Amino acid sequence: MPITKTDYIWMDGELVNWDDANVHVLTHSLHYGCGVFEGIRAYATDQGAGVFRLTDHVNRLFDSAKIFMMEIPFSRAQLVDAVKQTVKANNLTECYIRPLVYLGYGEMGLLTLNSEVKVSIAVWPWGAYLGEEGLEKGVRVKISSWQRHDPNAMPPAAKGTGMYINSSMAKAEALKCGYDEAVLLSPQGYVSECTGENIFVFRNDRLVTPPVSAGALQGITQASVMAIARDLGVEVEWANLLRSDLYLADEAFLCGTAAEVVPIGSVDDRQVGDGTPGPVTRKIQETYKAAVRGHVDRYRPWVEHV
Ligand code: PMP
Repeated sequence: MPITKTDYIWMDGELVNWDDANVHVLTHSLHYGCGVFEGIRAYATDQGAGVFRLTDHVNRLFDSAKIFMMEIPFSRAQLVDAVKQTVKANNLTECYIRPLVYLGYGEMGLLTLNSEVKVSIAVWPWGAYLGEEGLEKGVRVKISSWQRHDPNAMPPAAKGTGMYINSSMAKAEALKCGYDEAVLLSPQGYVSECTGENIFVFRNDRLVTPPVSAGALQGITQASVMAIARDLGVEVEWANLLRSDLYLADEAFLCGTAAEVVPIGSVDDRQVGDGTPGPVTRKIQETYKAAVRGHVDRYRPWVEHV
């Protein structure tokens, strides 16, 4: 999806013009993929731009960095402020926010520990990641021939830049085969997640989502959906799922910051339910849409105004 240019990007403590936000070709992270990042969204609320669960995203960024032994040279509070400052400077009320922590220019070789840790934050307007039609009617997904990471090869709890080669290959395969999105299985054969979204199955009156031990990122949208579902009186739990659980689901959906809550219409050409978004999916989708914009009182603490 093309990027819409905005005015400023935050780099290592200051706002620079969009066109000047450049790095050297020998930037360490370009070569070995050691970086961590976040994907966050701001929405228009009745008090201006509100960043959804900003502190939770910044905390996950620090967790990812800890796993890779990258020392972020800013505090959590400084990065929370920096995100708000970047949204404000660009005069945006609805946007996607991309903080990136990477290893800069100066060292080469596989030891990362001596490299300078750099931080950037870019923001730009970004529409529905899987398309408006997907949000409305549901998407067609396919089990990927690529597996999710083995936890002892790549740590699923980290949102690491290089780890996404796996997602990109699965995404390309699914699209080339005529599907909208891929579902990846863990090396043990359990359902893990999609290329950039967590997955939920509703069956026998219970909502189930795979745990981190199945290779899934612990999603912030996933956590929001679990809270919303419980508040709606839906039983929800973490559990391993087999691909046949997807085929036999009454309802299924995927969720992530970029994609939001997207119904799944079919898996490997087997219709989910009657192939249209089910009532539980719809209710959760509607509630999420209202919550991110600060329209639901009980979820207002999730919205952090800039
Ligand atoms: N899984 C993967 C692999 C992702 O990249 C994302 C997006 N960050 C998610 C799940 C969903 O996470 P979140 O809801 O925190 O955006």
